[in-house]
Formats: sequence, C-alpha cells, structure tokens
Amino acid sequence: MKTFTYQRARTPAEAAEAAARHPGARFIAGGTNLLDLMKLEIEAPAHLIDVNGIGLDKIEPTPEGGLRVGALVRNTDLAADATVRSGYAVLSRALLAGASAQLRNKATTAGNLLQRTRCPYFYDTNQACNKRQPGSGCSAIGGYSRQLAVVGASDACIATHPSDMAVGMRALDAVVETVRADGAGRRIPIAEFYRPPGATPHLENALLPGELITAVVLPAPVGGRHHYQKVRDRASYAFALVSVAAIVQPDGGGRVALGGVAHQPWRSAAGDAALPRGARAVIAALLGKAAPTKDNAFKVALAERALQSILADGGKAKS
Ligand SMILES: Cc1cc2nc3c(=O)[nH]c(=O)nc-3n(C[C@H](O)[C@H](O)[C@H](O)COP(=O)(O)OP(=O)(O)OC[C@H]3O[C@@H](n4cnc5c(N)ncnc54)[C@H](O)[C@@H]3O)c2cc1C
Ligand code: SF4
Repeated sequence: MKTFTYQRARTPAEAAEAAARHPGARFIAGGTNLLDLMKLEIEAPAHLIDVNGIGLDKIEPTPEGGLRVGALVRNTDLAADATVRSGYAVLSRALLAGASAQLRNKATTAGNLLQRTRCPYFYDTNQACNKRQPGSGCSAIGGYSRQLAVVGASDACIATHPSDMAVGMRALDAVVETVRADGAGRRIPIAEFYRPPGATPHLENALLPGELITAVVLPAPVGGRHHYQKVRDRASYAFALVSVAAIVQPDGGGRVALGGVAHQPWRSAAGDAALPRGARAVIAALLGKAAPTKDNAFKVALAERALQSILADGGKAKS
C-alpha cells in the first residue's frame, strides 16, 4: 500500500474544506471498499479524511413526509429502522440482500452508493482496464463477462454497478444531497447520479472532486407491496447476477428497477408503464435494447423470470 496522511474531520464543512486543501484526497467511511482498493493500489490517495465523526448518522423525517438518511448511517441500522421497514420496505430488503452482516455493520449509505465495480479485470492490475487506467483498453470486452452489463454499456467499458441498496433507492426516487468546500449544496436525483460509461468510464457519478455526500432523501412513502428479488451464484456474500426491486400497487401498476445489468440501477418510465401487462412487457421495455455478450445473455431471461416470480407471488414480499 502507498503511504498516505490521515485526519479525522469533526464537521461536514471541515471534511469538505480538507478535501479542497488536498486535491486527490478520499473520504473514508466504513472503509470496506476503499481499503481493499488501496491495498491493491487501485486507489492511492495521498490523504484520507475520516468522516465517521461528522455527525451525519441520523435518520430523520422531512417536512414533506419523507425521510432524510444521513450519509454515515450504517446499512444495518438503515435496514432495521422501523420507518424504513414499514414505508420503504424495498430498501430494507435490498440492504439485507447485500454483503454480510459484518460488512453491513460497517458499510455506510454514502459509501455503498460510491462502491466501485466488481468487474474482475478492474481488480487485476495486470489487465487492461479503462476504468482503472483511462485509455488502457478493456479486457472484459472479448474476455469473461458473465457478471457484466447487458445494457447501457459502451465500447470502453461494460462494468455493472454492484450496489443492492442503490437499486432499492432508484425504485424510491431517492435524492442525493451534497456539500462542497464553498458551502454550496446540491440535490441530485439518483436517476442522474451515475454517469453512463461512454468514453470516460473512470468518471462514474455526478460528484465534483472533493464534494461530500451529506444525506440521501427519500420522498414520502408510495405504498404498495415492496419486493427485492436478488439472483446470485450463492445464497450469501455474493453480488447480484440480476436483481429486481419492485413496488406493486393494488391496481397492478407500480415501479421496477433492475440491478446487475448496467452501470447504474436500471429503470425507465416505459418499464413502469408496462407493469400491468406483466413481466415480459416490463423486461421488453427495460432490456429491449440490451446488447449482451455470449457469457451474459442469460441475464435478460433471468430478469424476466425474477420479476415473474414476484408478480406470481401475490401479497408475499420476498428478498
Ligand atoms: C466481500 C464483500 C461482499 C460484498 N457484497 C455486497 C453485495 O452483495 N451487495 C452490495 O450492495 N454491496 C456488497 N459489498 C460492498 C459493500 O456494500 C460496500 O463495500 C460498502 O457499502 C461501502 O461502504 P463504506 O462505508 O465501507 O465505504 P468506503 O469503503 O469507506 O468508501 C467507498 C467510497 O465512498 C467514498 N465516500 C464514503 N463516504 C463518502 C461521503 N460521505 N461523501 C463522498 N464520498 C464518500 C469513499 O471516498 C470511497 O471512494 C460487499 C463488499 C465486500 C468486501
Ligand atoms: S468492463 Fe470496465 S471495469 Fe471491466 S475491464 Fe473493462 S473498462 Fe475495466
């Protein structure tokens, strides 16, 4: 691991100011992704800003009837929160489908949104990877791509985003709140948070250098039955091959977001509108333009079957 300096910030403003003073610095929260990447020297920040003590660890109601989730709220605490379990069950179920209990005890809301891809070539520093080293090429294209994207990819990168939590948040229309060193804040809808890979897959989201996530805001609950179905190679401690977050209303309408298929949770107005017509219509709307590889073409049928199993399940919610 490369050497680095370290500081503990006491407030969000202090953290953002420190990031402005140390270009290339990284915030560290639970450390469950960043430390692994530093050990492999995939990330080599010269300075770490520990944000665990900046007071953003609360879940609070908003005046609009929603919920503000602090950036440092642990995945375990968010999944277990009574209001989340009752009004935002799709999020609770998505969180509990992720990682392991020990990891969820450390992992934070912001860190989970910003975790890097699990593309095996990204982690193998002997392989070409445009995301790790811009302009070096992409070993996954023409390589082994079973886990990788079937839609939204580019000629430069076919990685998926691995977060389960983000898929639940996409179904809920969450908004990411941030602050910068000059005190300016932004509210970024999660639909606009992740950047398509295009020619610059190393630029993964809408954050500017040094911008700190302070919270994720959930709008008022929308009701309906909440489901999160994750299909993976083993029952625990594995990333999604495909996941489906669905909120189904009594009239058959609702919302559907897919995980494991793209660089971001995959949802569209056409996909939602197709829900009353069944799983085949939804997946045709969401993945009709999919361009899978020979290794991952199964994901399209798998997504349809996962949604079909949710719709066939009547009132029972699943994770
Ligand atoms: C073995 C294993 C299995 C896993 N399985 C799953 C799984 O099945 N599903 C799943 O969803 N996840 C899984 N994960 C990933 C895990 O959920 C993430 O590692 C975790 O959520 C990251 O959160 P963290 O707080 O530890 O982030 P950190 O590692 O501390 O940080 C991650 C990134 O976020 C940045 N960051 C942190 N906080 C802020 C902030 N407030 N503002 C701006 N930037 C910030 C950091 O600088 C860093 O770039 C797994 C991880 C492991 C190691
Ligand atoms: S798919 Fe993306 S992350 Fe994987 S090797 Fe190619 S450029 Fe790197």
